[in-house]
Amino acid sequence: PATIGIVGGGQLGRMIALAAKPMGYRVGVLDPTPDSPAGQVADFQITADYDDEAAILELARRADVLTYEFENVDLTTLAHASQITELPQGTDLLYITKNRLREKQFLADHGIPVARFAEVQSVVELDAKVAEEVPCPAILKTAEGGYDGHGQWDIPNTDALNTLISHWPVAETVPLILEQQIDFDREVSVMVTRDGFNEVRIWPVAENVHQHHILKTTLAPAQVSPLLQAKITRIATDIAEALNLRGVLGVEMFVAGDDVYVNELAPRPHNSGHYTIEGSNISQFEAHVRSIVGLPIAEIETVDQALMLNLLGDELTQAREELLAHPEWHFHDYGKLDIKRNRKMGHITVVGATAIGQLETWSQTHEQH
Ligand code: ATP
Ligand code: MG
Ligand code: MG
Repeated sequence: PATIGIVGGGQLGRMIALAAKPMGYRVGVLDPTPDSPAGQVADFQITADYDDEAAILELARRADVLTYEFENVDLTTLAHASQITELPQGTDLLYITKNRLREKQFLADHGIPVARFAEVQSVVELDAKVAEEVPCPAILKTAEGGYDGHGQWDIPNTDALNTLISHWPVAETVPLILEQQIDFDREVSVMVTRDGFNEVRIWPVAENVHQHHILKTTLAPAQVSPLLQAKITRIATDIAEALNLRGVLGVEMFVAGDDVYVNELAPRPHNSGHYTIEGSNISQFEAHVRSIVGLPIAEIETVDQALMLNLLGDELTQAREELLAHPEWHFHDYGKLDIKRNRKMGHITVVGATAIGQLETWSQTHEQH
């Protein structure tokens, strides 16, 4: 059978592998951590750093199709790998989405609404950019490499700006993006892909709640007006077409009144799409596999409303102890070997209003210690 190679062995790689295996594929992963979450369920793991070009090329040689589960893969290495094996997502998708400046510019160039933004190359530039291009409240982010809110600084007012400048936390060589802070009503996301016959497949709008910049819950379908739903779906479809998309793309957006702004893109399955495993006919992981190997994907249908709750830090252990009392829980343990505060260790999905109510009640009384 054909082998799918995944660069990265975290929970996304694990769930891609768990979707690919019953379809008859072999799966190989590359990750620096021995026995990584994906490595535990794959046919083989190459244990090496993500920037180890020789190891990535070895994975490419052993795979018929190559994909990745995060954005921080070196582009040159990926281009070399694509000369050895199939890389259906191509390198342009990663080139655009791994850098917030290129991503926002790409979106703006295609008429997609984004927050005002400006490039900031050094601490010296920041003052002037805030004064001229992106007034407070604003958020400063590293252009590359950030996740779960790492590499972000809030600038609510000029006092905060001055404090940030006098305690400059960033290496001078790191490019930054300054973004207008959107006063949003809600945060939503949409998962979208195109199948092997270029048909766009899109899941319902999902509503996300973050705590300390980390995703806590996703409710889908989101409770938004038909007008907003149409707008959001249109935007995600336009992006998928503009990118000639292969593989699944997560589109994060802010909703403010009747306005929608795209926050960021993820060229892979996304945490807010985990509910699709139980909540829809085709999960984002099965769809990712189908899209990259060139298979058709049926139109997406949802079973019922679903709620996904991330289990961070020690919450997973607590939740496991309660499994017996909650027959409606779909429990997902990523198999991570060490518990760290705010680390995504697993998640729970429930489907249907009754179970959603019960999970909400449970989560309110079981916050991370
Ligand atoms: P992820 O884990 O989703 O990849 P990330 O570190 O890449 O996160 P963002 O998604 O850009 O970071 O930001 C994290 C959160 O911070 C957002 O979900 C949102 O709550 C808030 N945020 C970021 N940018 C803005 C903005 N321009 N206006 C308002 N809120 C913002
Ligand atoms: Mg991100
Ligand atoms: Mg985000």
